[in-house]
Amino acid sequence: MNKTYYITTPIYYPSGKLHIGNTYTTVFCDALKRYKALRGYDTYYLTGMDEHGKKIETVAEERNLHPLDHVDEMAKETRALWDRMGITYDDFIRTTEKRHKTVVQKIFEQLIEQGDIYLGTYKGYYCMPCESFFTETQLGDNHTCPDCGRETSQLEEESYFLKLSKYQKRLLNYIEEHPDFITPASRKNEVVSFIKQGLNDLSVSRTTFDWGIKVISNPKHVVYVWIDALSNYISALGYNTDHDQLFQKYWHGDEVVHVTGKDIIRFHAIYWPILLMALDIPINFRLHAHGFYQAKEGKMSKSKGSVVYPDTIINQYGLDELRYFLLRELPYGGDGIFTPESFIERVNYDLANDFGNLLNRTISMINKYFDGHISRNPDETHEADQALESHIEDTIKQYKENMETFKVSEAIKGLWSLISRTNKYIDETTPWVLAKDLEQKDMLENVMFHLAESLRHIGILLTPILPDASKDLFKQLGVHEKLQSFDTLSFGLGKSFEVVKKPNPLFPRLDSEKEIEKLKSIIRGEHDEDIEPVDETNLASIDDFNKLELRVGQVLQARYHPNADKLLVLSVDTGEKQPRQIVAGIAKHYEPETLINKKLIVIVNLEPVTLRGEQSEGMLLAGSNKESMEVLTVKNLNPGDHVQ
Ligand SMILES: [Zn+2]
Repeated sequence: MNKTYYITTPIYYPSGKLHIGNTYTTVFCDALKRYKALRGYDTYYLTGMDEHGKKIETVAEERNLHPLDHVDEMAKETRALWDRMGITYDDFIRTTEKRHKTVVQKIFEQLIEQGDIYLGTYKGYYCMPCESFFTETQLGDNHTCPDCGRETSQLEEESYFLKLSKYQKRLLNYIEEHPDFITPASRKNEVVSFIKQGLNDLSVSRTTFDWGIKVISNPKHVVYVWIDALSNYISALGYNTDHDQLFQKYWHGDEVVHVTGKDIIRFHAIYWPILLMALDIPINFRLHAHGFYQAKEGKMSKSKGSVVYPDTIINQYGLDELRYFLLRELPYGGDGIFTPESFIERVNYDLANDFGNLLNRTISMINKYFDGHISRNPDETHEADQALESHIEDTIKQYKENMETFKVSEAIKGLWSLISRTNKYIDETTPWVLAKDLEQKDMLENVMFHLAESLRHIGILLTPILPDASKDLFKQLGVHEKLQSFDTLSFGLGKSFEVVKKPNPLFPRLDSEKEIEKLKSIIRGEHDEDIEPVDETNLASIDDFNKLELRVGQVLQARYHPNADKLLVLSVDTGEKQPRQIVAGIAKHYEPETLINKKLIVIVNLEPVTLRGEQSEGMLLAGSNKESMEVLTVKNLNPGDHVQ
């Protein structure tokens, strides 16, 4: 039986398009999963989305959508991104799924029954427009809302609480007895000192919004984010259901790893283990919290024009280039910085020059001197051989240690040290000199063999980091599939090589100056390449399109929605007996009176919906970009005219 390995990312909150920094955790977990799979583990990789909460309810409303339609769309986009990035996840859990909701509801009821969850009052500062509670420490100056900057007022709300205090001591003991539980050590220390200040019981339900999992025994409450989101790690495995094989296999298996960003470590290092203790589930996991990618000026921000999207990099340069940069440039325990300069440099120096060029030179020489075919000749040795062989051995050992302890960036550094060492071996053995002397033919073959065999090792160790490039390397070098596995990492096992006739550069060298300027302008949003490609996997048929009925409609009246400051309520003449009422999320871009008499394009055969108490019988067509939104208008057509 193979050992098991269960690895998870936090579930993503669908608050917008993911930038490269947001994708780090997922790429990092993918590298670790691939590494463990390469080592023969039975792996299971879980990721997903956290789809409940006030903010989602509000955003969906602004978009004139049911929250579920909104999150369906986000989940689809997110999965498409992971597929694009070559992420080998096994399951994608969504907290709106039934399989998750029923588990959360059972957990909540059990904890109420046990007395670990009790009903109390939550006191906090409330922001009316945001409909959110904040603690005093979260507020801005003069008790203002940290989200919108408006004044807040002190309010009380009935809420369920989880008894953190009861488990405080047990948790501290657990952390002390399991020195590898939380890494890096700096994060562990942060957690320990937080617990030692004393844990307050945690508010775990809300009555101020609806978009969540209802508490069965008291349905005016919805389960607040902590218990809802954290439980995904076991609900996805079928915990507490009659089909819990995955839970038995992976949670009770050999290794369980949660990876998170440093900002949510408290939830994973305190609330989650306490929840598990209360449920009498063994903690069993190791937690690793990593730092963040930033732009040079600090946090990546849309308004500063410093956000970098994965699509941009993949379209322009390729997936392995992006994976390499992300995994290489974020130091263990620290933050990383993305700049166009550092990215282009990494691609040029590390990938094109050091690595790609080594493969290219090796294949060219094997073709030139041996017509593409070489074998091992153990009788011939060069004095540089031993040094290279022992460097390979050390690299494998360090690589394993680093990958096991989440030091992926260190593991990559070690690999590049081997790549440098192999390049140096060429300088030491001067094959072009050996080639001039027929007597040295065997020696020359021995040198070629060392280069090829070193590259085979590099290819195997790079599999989790650069899946495409390592596949390409094996193909060009003629490495049989059986010799691509982790247990063939032993010098000399690859006995002969038959390389391709014409090497193909793994990473073409870039014109630095030109590419840096181009990348900068894309990031600033001045370059067309940044426009998202059409999703070819989601094509609509003519029938799909014909299902929608579009007509010209003229605005008769317009007013602000009484209960939502982003919505307008319009009365629109669509040529029918009665005008239609349409609620549209355009209040931020249009004063109501400016719309009167405008002729717009309206979808008239959508199912009516009620948005915060106002019925909406249609939808307007509008276009938008980062700065503005514009409703589509016509001049010479009349209300009721068809639009095709
Ligand atoms: Zn606010």
